Amino acid sequence: MSTQEEWKVPFFNYPYMFISQEEAFMSVIRDVGRRGAFIMQKDLADFEANLAAYTGGKYAVGVANATDGLQMALMAGGVGPGDEIIFCSHTMVATASAIHFAGAAPVPVEAGPDHVMDPEAMEAAITPRTKAILPTQLNGRTADMDAIRTVADKHGLEIYEDAAQALGSKFNGKCAGTFGVASCISFYPAKVLGCLGDGGAVLTNNEEVCRKLLSLRDHGRDDDGDVVMWGLNSRLDNLQAAILDYQLRDYQKVIDRRRAIAALYQERLANFEQLVLPPAPDSDPDHFDVFQNYEIEAENRDKLRVYLKERGIGTLIQWGGKAVHQFRKLGFTQSLPFTERLFERMLMLPMNMSLSDHDVHYVCDCIIDFYWK
Ligand SMILES: *Cc1c(COP(=O)(O)O)cnc(C)c1O
Repeated sequence: MSTQEEWKVPFFNYPYMFISQEEAFMSVIRDVGRRGAFIMQKDLADFEANLAAYTGGKYAVGVANATDGLQMALMAGGVGPGDEIIFCSHTMVATASAIHFAGAAPVPVEAGPDHVMDPEAMEAAITPRTKAILPTQLNGRTADMDAIRTVADKHGLEIYEDAAQALGSKFNGKCAGTFGVASCISFYPAKVLGCLGDGGAVLTNNEEVCRKLLSLRDHGRDDDGDVVMWGLNSRLDNLQAAILDYQLRDYQKVIDRRRAIAALYQERLANFEQLVLPPAPDSDPDHFDVFQNYEIEAENRDKLRVYLKERGIGTLIQWGGKAVHQFRKLGFTQSLPFTERLFERMLMLPMNMSLSDHDVHYVCDCIIDFYWK
């Protein structure tokens, strides 16, 4: 099981992502290449406008990756030394590192039963130094932003979002990434909207924050090329922007397919007491999930994982099996028992555009066999 071809159902099929759209991608690449349009050209501006329109937000700023994007979002919003930022520990270490490199202190809290930030745990972590709440819209699901907004308003806190996994996900009809001061989206190849390498965007409705972001990503320069602040070099390549803009046109189909796969998993696996499934696609009118991942909880998780591997099915435990606060070398001392227990049980099943219905049935058959033997 070492190479991609030996898997019956790989967890993610990277070549498929390119090959399934190869001709269209090649013509985009040829077009951009022949124009020599590599850095901050029209394709980037077009993509930013289309992305903002898609999310219903005012501004989108293309950046090199979501991690830089989140750091710059916090910097542009005025987060810095002395501030504490509350985030959910079931997230990529990138969420915490963005807070750290913005100069603030990352404060991890528990996930809830749907694996996104638990609003009650969040409120309990507030101190006089807390500046903002930073939920991760994980697995393509948006946290309960009404509850988070209520707590934030009560304590005079700002909201930022790690929406790296959640482009198109909604809570009460409003897109992930548009609830607070600013947010980040990731275009890493395996993300719901992926490019051919690293890429990201920052969303904001605030003109001043947008202006700062445009400078921060480009060496601190303004439109006239004058250096007006310390900045980074963290631009979204124009070529990647063109590839993303092309794919954004058919993005609804991608979301529809992912939700159909989730519905199929739900239909086949809902009745097993050994499993806890993510909320089904239409189970709650407040949430519209885009299923970046299909993360289940499973009894005997490690044995199930081996059993599936022996049958050619790739699975993954998110973040290498640890919540962020469990990376003790980063200085975290918190104990978050609910989240730690989740990490003993969670497993991600294949969820991507290369899956046929037949593949999904095969995965479900093997899971059912495992629990019935
Ligand atoms: C992928 C991801 C990131 C990082 O995105 P990059 O574009 O790779 O920097 C951050 N947070 C979450 C929740 C992610 O899934």
